[in-house]
Amino acid sequence: MACVELEGRILIIDVGLSFPSGDMPGIDLVLPDFDYVRNHAERVEAVVLTHGHEDHIGALTYLLREISDVAVYGTPFTLELLKGKLEEHQVSDRCELRTAVPGEGASVGPFTMRFLRVTHSIPDGMAVVVDTPHGAILHTGDFKIDQTPLDGRPTDLHGLAEEASGAGVHLLLSDSTNAEEAGYTDSERSVGPVLQRIVENAPNIVVAACFSSHIHRVQQIVNAARANERVVAFLGRSMLNSVAAARRLGILQVDDRDVIDIAEVADLDPGRVVVICTGSQGEPFSALSLMAQRQHKWVKLDEGDTVVLSSSLIPGNEPAIHRVVDAVYRTGADVYHMPADPVHASGHAAAEELRLMLSLVRPRWFIPIHGERRHLQHHARLAEEVGIPRDHIVICEDGDMVEVGERVAIIDRVQAGMTFVDGLGIGDVGGEVLRDRRKLAGDGVVVVVVTVDSQTGELVGGPDIVNRGFVYEETSQDILDEARERVIAAIGETADARVTDPSALQQDIRRALGRYFNEVTQRKPVILPVVMEV
Ligand SMILES: [Zn+2]
Ligand SMILES: [Zn+2]
Repeated sequence: MACVELEGRILIIDVGLSFPSGDMPGIDLVLPDFDYVRNHAERVEAVVLTHGHEDHIGALTYLLREISDVAVYGTPFTLELLKGKLEEHQVSDRCELRTAVPGEGASVGPFTMRFLRVTHSIPDGMAVVVDTPHGAILHTGDFKIDQTPLDGRPTDLHGLAEEASGAGVHLLLSDSTNAEEAGYTDSERSVGPVLQRIVENAPNIVVAACFSSHIHRVQQIVNAARANERVVAFLGRSMLNSVAAARRLGILQVDDRDVIDIAEVADLDPGRVVVICTGSQGEPFSALSLMAQRQHKWVKLDEGDTVVLSSSLIPGNEPAIHRVVDAVYRTGADVYHMPADPVHASGHAAAEELRLMLSLVRPRWFIPIHGERRHLQHHARLAEEVGIPRDHIVICEDGDMVEVGERVAIIDRVQAGMTFVDGLGIGDVGGEVLRDRRKLAGDGVVVVVVTVDSQTGELVGGPDIVNRGFVYEETSQDILDEARERVIAAIGETADARVTDPSALQQDIRRALGRYFNEVTQRKPVILPVVMEV
């Protein structure tokens, strides 16, 4: 998420979300911290979305709970995907959707924008150019330079060159995802023949998993099915949604008579079917994952079946993907996946394409965006290699405020970072709660309930000890028995000292048990003493 400010007004470019990593137990989604925008809500003029991926549009519905009356620009497919989300979150009336046409532009408040088509792993991606008194800012969005895209709409190199002429591009913000990859990214088209061969040689059912928004990939799987006289069944909620959106806009060509409902699969010769589904990232309850465990209602994988994971391994998802791939192998099915089989082409520009973008646009200043620090640093090096002076390259962290004048420099920082969504709660789970969850996950919890006489502090009931995730009660009875003795002893000592304050008692119990557990198990469970007075 980026904000461009001009004459006191704010233009937001993309509002994405991310998914929790393994050290965020219980978290469903990760949003950007909207603090800055929230504090300047009345100055927000518009939002422009470069493409329909979750990491670019996914948090907009959450932002719209806080700001309203905002214009949202996007290409038709981006807006089509967005509409479903706006309805689901009941925020459709809080924004006005405006269609962006690549090759054309739009003006809103003090902002003059131009949109340029780029190729990516979703149809209808675009770069955004915003004019400033010092020259244009060009934000590439996510892109690759695919010379032979499936829809015949390549990255607008001519438009990019045109921006470079005349007043020129003052500042380029460019996608760094694949900055570490040498050479060129393969054309999406290169995946087609591989898929064709796999389907051709498959004796039984073919299950192909890919990202639901990757319509060109879906199209190539459909093409491979049709070429081999197979029908297709779409499976998974997001797959059904984006396929429907793409068919409405005519960007996915598939005949009604070539599509069957997943429930009909059982009645057909499996050699005549290709299932196109979600779950390529190893999501635990996705269609693919259930099929791998033979728990799917309609498709149970077996020897002779074929499974294709037509997608990348998104960093962080590898363990989950490998779990699913292993499970599929165990069913006896044949499996095709990256990197062993060339069943995927990346949607992001590799080093040579990034150099080409830099050489074509010839920006006076450069900020690498979209990637981890190492990607940004690699991208900066590529920029230097094509002649951008080192002191005209600015590497930013989230929250950096950059002044775009004659010079471009970081001048301040605003609050930024992550806001966690857990169930219905947005932002109520912070660092402290996560720390507790990690500790509970790592060491478990022991609850000790005692009843004491409020006058004397003597034990009159308990102690009852309950644990979760610390030890297995059946086999560790001796530890828990001894723990009970330690609690009794601790309370006895406190009573002898005539201390009856419950919080002092809790402290003593915690100390005594902590010491004992560490002694016999070298573990440090969370100890929660409950002291009741009678
Ligand atoms: Zn992205
Ligand atoms: Zn993307």
